[in-house]
Amino acid sequence: MIHYGVIVHGGAGSPSHFSDGCKVACESAFGFIEAGKSALDAVVEAVRILEDDGRFNAGYGSALRLDGKTVEMDASVMDSKGKIGIVIAIRNVKNPIQVARAVLETPHVALAGEGATAFARKQGFAQFYKVSDYAMERYKEIKQKIKEGNLSGEDYRWKDYDIEKLWNYKSGSYKDILCDTVGSVAIDKKGMLAVANSTGGFSPMMQGRVGDSPMIGCGFYSGPACAVATTGMGEEIIKKMLAKTVYDMVANGKDIKKACELGIKMFSSEIKVGIIAISKEGYASMSNTGMASYTLTHFL
Ligand code: ASP
Repeated sequence: MIHYGVIVHGGAGSPSHFSDGCKVACESAFGFIEAGKSALDAVVEAVRILEDDGRFNAGYGSALRLDGKTVEMDASVMDSKGKIGIVIAIRNVKNPIQVARAVLETPHVALAGEGATAFARKQGFAQFYKVSDYAMERYKEIKQKIKEGNLSGEDYRWKDYDIEKLWNYKSGSYKDILCDTVGSVAIDKKGMLAVANSTGGFSPMMQGRVGDSPMIGCGFYSGPACAVATTGMGEEIIKKMLAKTVYDMVANGKDIKKACELGIKMFSSEIKVGIIAISKEGYASMSNTGMASYTLTHFL
């Protein structure tokens, strides 16, 4: 039996050697739980640290949209009592996960776009716009690939589209012009479970594009049976409502590792996907990539 524990991932697209960043986030969140704080506090802490790292596609490290300037971020948090907070396409904040946590304390479940950013200001979250070197490098790479028509793997789905026609920014053009997410699941000393997600999206991206990460049952789900966070190509994860599908398998008695394995198998190998999940009975962290992640658990 797991008494308490935390799992952190750095996104289906993050290389495994970035697990050092996940370790720092996981240790800090685990410390929260050891000190008697809730699973909800712990997952928000883990994700906040990864948002500040710069190498992961969330917060400061968020991927740039097609125009090379716009940063729109999604974040979500949910606990096993059914408390939920979501921000969608929020701009100019350092830690979207903390804003999502603040939304959880309102009568709403989700805030999007300008309303989400205005809410953040009202709550005292300072203006922040900074692109990490890593995010800029990734942007340049994708720009180059588009230019050369050298699209492969998941980017290949853009091959039949004229980006100029899809351009929905106020100015500029595509000619002037990336996947990850961070997530954490935890169980605390009282047996409460929680999940948190944060992402800069999945490149290339139009303005306003939303993936699975802020969608309940798709990128995240938490209930009495377990907490689940997913990562990978949002457009595909949404169609399979992956987090709730894995949750339901566990709630119906399937072993948590088996449930995550079946979840990953729902996708063909060229679609990057990763899942982390935790329950009283066990945990799992797996992907069809070399996803960075870290786990700390304390058994009864
Ligand atoms: N799922 C995220 C999205 O599609 C990206 C990721 O997890 O890597 O926005």
